[in-house]
Amino acid sequence: MFTPETKITELSGVGETIAKRLKLIGLSTVRDLLYYYPFRYDDFSKTAVIKDLKPNTSVNITGQVELIQNTRSPRKRMHITEALISDDSGQLKVIWFNQPFIAKNIHEGDKISLAGRVENDYSGIIMKSPVYEKLSAGTAVHTQGIIPNYHLTANITQKQLRFLISQVIKQSAISEWLPKQILESQKLLPLAEALKKIHFPQNLNDIEIAKKRLAFDELFIIQLQSQLIKNELRQSQATPLPFPEEAIRDFVSSLPFKLTDAQKKASWEILLDMAKQEPMTRLLEGDVGSGKTIVALIAMLAASLNNAQAVLMVPTEILAKQHFASIQKLLQAQNINICLITHSEQKTNLPDFTEKSKAKTKQALFDKIKSGEIKIIIGTHALIQEKLEFANLDLAIIDEQHRFGVEQRKILIDKSRNTKDKKQNNFTPHLLSMTATPIPRSLALTIYGDLDISIINEMPPGRRPIITRVVSEDNREKAYAFIRNLIAQNQQVFVICPLIDISDKMGIKSVNEEFKKLDKEIFPDLKIGMLHGRMKAKDKDAIIQDFINNKIKILVSTSVIEVGVDIPNASVMMIEAADHFGLAQLHQFRGRVGRGEHQSYCLLFTESDNPNTLVRLDAMTKYADGFSLAKIDLKHRGPGEVYGALQKGFPELKIASLFDYTLIKAAREEAEKIIKENATLNNFSSLKEKIKLLEKSDYLRG
Ligand code: ADP
Ligand code: MG
Repeated sequence: MFTPETKITELSGVGETIAKRLKLIGLSTVRDLLYYYPFRYDDFSKTAVIKDLKPNTSVNITGQVELIQNTRSPRKRMHITEALISDDSGQLKVIWFNQPFIAKNIHEGDKISLAGRVENDYSGIIMKSPVYEKLSAGTAVHTQGIIPNYHLTANITQKQLRFLISQVIKQSAISEWLPKQILESQKLLPLAEALKKIHFPQNLNDIEIAKKRLAFDELFIIQLQSQLIKNELRQSQATPLPFPEEAIRDFVSSLPFKLTDAQKKASWEILLDMAKQEPMTRLLEGDVGSGKTIVALIAMLAASLNNAQAVLMVPTEILAKQHFASIQKLLQAQNINICLITHSEQKTNLPDFTEKSKAKTKQALFDKIKSGEIKIIIGTHALIQEKLEFANLDLAIIDEQHRFGVEQRKILIDKSRNTKDKKQNNFTPHLLSMTATPIPRSLALTIYGDLDISIINEMPPGRRPIITRVVSEDNREKAYAFIRNLIAQNQQVFVICPLIDISDKMGIKSVNEEFKKLDKEIFPDLKIGMLHGRMKAKDKDAIIQDFINNKIKILVSTSVIEVGVDIPNASVMMIEAADHFGLAQLHQFRGRVGRGEHQSYCLLFTESDNPNTLVRLDAMTKYADGFSLAKIDLKHRGPGEVYGALQKGFPELKIASLFDYTLIKAAREEAEKIIKENATLNNFSSLKEKIKLLEKSDYLRG
């Protein structure tokens, strides 16, 4: 018997090469295979007899091979395999193209099962390129009944995958983890049965009931985790930080711009939360450029006016430096000590703060954080990795929240529990997470049930709209000429490439190719830079720095890279194979331009002439806000697809729908019941284990 942890290499038929290929699509254990659901099914449940075949239908037949031979097409370009199949009712011609090996696999006299499309040919009715299998081996798994289809990677076939999955379904010990009470009250299939039915259903109803069980699982575990966090928070305490109303008003009126109403409302909600003893857990959502930083700064200022410390943690060094520089400027008139902590740089606004060596400077800074002299600390992951101690960390803000994991948030909270008292009282700082992902409120509540949400739904006034165009291949040359002209005026360009090959997870291949093309063929005279996810942080930062300094004119990047930084001189966002991206994601790319004085452009390249695709892309030219675009996207695609690429933390829902409110409600109620009954989950060891697994997989939350 296999266990879920059994390595794929222990299955029959999996050698090193195949294991490597399977790994490319994330399959390395039996568990991975069990949960690799089909994306569609072929219904070959009706077996036909040859005499009744009608053109333009998909069917399954069984018969005997009368004749099989390879020929070449008249122009010798193509191998053709022709076979004659018979059953009791008649004979049928079958052909395959460019698969000469088929004539080696099937022989005259074999009993075979075929599934495929029947067409009319000059010679009568034929079957073209059917899936075939010999029946000598037993019952058909590829050509009869309801046949699962899986997403594949190069050099793995549906047949291979089905073979492996049928192995693990037959031979795995699948233990039930849902408590019996839930299975009964929700009338759900046992897990083993659901997994069997989702892969190899006997009929369409099997798919339905299997889906219900597996979807319930996904939603239930999210709800359970939410409830656990909520429960924990209920028992923890923060330091109440009263709203220093007058000082904040003065500060706001001293700003070089007027806050938008949405910014005011969000700040107000945050400041009220912070005044409570119950820890704030708020998510601040706002489009790229909507001005979240200033809201964060107002919260940090309120904390420091209460003599408390605040940290702002961001995902990249460049972003940390930018935040430090702009916050330092905005706080000039205030008498507040701030500092920057990244792995490569530590600095502060305290005057004359340089020691003899870098190490000493760092130590002196750390000392001042520990003593509480420094109030606002801005930094990267270094904040939690370094041996940093705080005096009284009462506010933690996480920018680009989806880039951080639960673990990292936990470490930060742990660091704030610096006294015995705080440890014992489950002290928790007020937490504010920020994101640019436009998740509608109703949806956010279902996923982040334990968070409060503030939304900035308007842009600061005076932004010049970005001109967006869908560009067909015919106009590519013109687009290059246009770009060249802007670069001659000293402006800069982003080029984003999608991951074309799903096994090329980091998108290195496509970015490399695009970079070479632009660098060697199209713009050999210009300096071009390249960014992808496999580069070292230091190298990435160096490239971005060169781009900021206008040394690099065109920056070619994967979508994996988020350039959350301000590059006001970049005026063109060019996106290759734009149809590969969701609208919300395209919108985020677009948000990287239009931040400076130049008129900015977003050019969406596509080779597609599919009308649906073009309508979808066209929405980009009509709407300038992320929420509208996300809503349109959600109509066409599931939330997992819409947000998966934007939000690493977005729960990976393979099968559940976030719009299945009935099932969500059921999952939430069951989760609440469990927590009420036994909040430690000590009586539900399988649930406890599941939650642990979830945290380990770095399921990120707000
Ligand atoms: P994001 O929400 O993407 O983090 P930022 O906070 O970086 O956006 O703000 C984008 C830019 O808009 C910054 O240069 C900031 O100074 C400016 N900004 C923020 N709020 C306003 C406002 N109310 N009026 C004008 N400019 C603003
Ligand atoms: Mg920001």
